[in-house]
Amino acid sequence: MNTRPPCRPPAGVSFPIYLDYGATTPVDPQVARVMCDFLTDKFGNAASSSHPFGWEARRAVEKARGQVAGLVGAQPAEIVWTSGATESNNLALKGAALTLRAQGRGKHLVTVATEHKAVLDTMHTLERAGFDVTFLQPGADGLVTPEQFREALRPDTILASVMYVNNEIGVIQPIAELGEICAGRGIVFHVDAVQAAGKIAVDVKRLKVDLMSFSAHKVYGPKGIGALYVRHNPDLRLQAQIDGGGHENGMRSGTLATHQIVGMGEAFELAGRLLEEEGERIRALRERLWNGIAGLPGVQLNGCAINRVPHNLNVSFPPTRYGTLASQLLGIAVSAGSACNSAASAPSFVLLAIGCTPDAARNAVRFSLGRGTTQGEIDYVAATVRQVLALEALEPVPVGR
Ligand SMILES: *Cc1c(COP(=O)(O)O)cnc(C)c1O
Repeated sequence: MNTRPPCRPPAGVSFPIYLDYGATTPVDPQVARVMCDFLTDKFGNAASSSHPFGWEARRAVEKARGQVAGLVGAQPAEIVWTSGATESNNLALKGAALTLRAQGRGKHLVTVATEHKAVLDTMHTLERAGFDVTFLQPGADGLVTPEQFREALRPDTILASVMYVNNEIGVIQPIAELGEICAGRGIVFHVDAVQAAGKIAVDVKRLKVDLMSFSAHKVYGPKGIGALYVRHNPDLRLQAQIDGGGHENGMRSGTLATHQIVGMGEAFELAGRLLEEEGERIRALRERLWNGIAGLPGVQLNGCAINRVPHNLNVSFPPTRYGTLASQLLGIAVSAGSACNSAASAPSFVLLAIGCTPDAARNAVRFSLGRGTTQGEIDYVAATVRQVLALEALEPVPVGR
């Protein structure tokens, strides 16, 4: 991104403008304050059970467990700390698949082609370990249907994984219906809810989910900390993926990162308090952005217009003479293609999977709005897009005339 746009920002707006909250969020200052205490003063090891330093850390970790559980309707004891949602997804899928196969329950797994790579790559590893995996193709709206899901199930299906909200296109999958189907057939159901937590109401009990992944840094908490909800079910023991010491009920060993954990707890509690008001404010800004650019020639919304979180607007633009539109949004940080892949120039596999042409996928922009987004920023971004496309519509005068 060019961070030095040619003109001065309008009053009240400063460059660069951040519209990539789907990639990560800043730590809320209130969260950072709580964390600092646990770096310097309250530095004890939560596993030190013989002195007050350890007791203090343990108390903080258990409070945070309650804060995370509280946002999603879980019991605190059902929350396992991890290093982030990538690890949560690995623990959920490998941990459950290996246990269930060892119990002779089967070897068939079901997921969706548009999942995050932390699910897809884990599924590929499980395929190499002898599991059969079905990758469902979503419709042009980005959604899978309960009927399609049901048809993919086999007598030996042991585990299904469907993300709640897609990180690229923001669509909301019908998790409650899928959970009902899984519960009726004894299939363990995992949901990557990283992009749902703090954006829409989540209730693990109502959704009939067995395993659910969360990350702090998408919810104004720190990077490097996540959690896995593991429904209390004595029959479901996840095989640990990190051994040593037996922390977290034997599911995930390693000294607990107290400062990160209290940060995640505080961030999740704050997200719950702000959820409704913030959602409405961001929805209005997203609609304002869409109204500012919809209807321009060749502009197309990607993903279902209705079942989507307020925070996301994924749009394909026509290619321009000077390259992609994204490369001309000077001073505006957005995600083009897929930020979650290191091979950045490849068109997004999510957009290809929902039927976008390679050209439309390459020219897509994900605008993701968040807590710091202002109306001034949105108006500037919409005006910039209109300006780029208006210039594009001018006939270039041939040189020499
Ligand atoms: C960001 C993200 C992840 C990975 O989370 P980390 O904590 O960064 O490992 C997984 N799934 C989805 C949907 C995400 O958006």
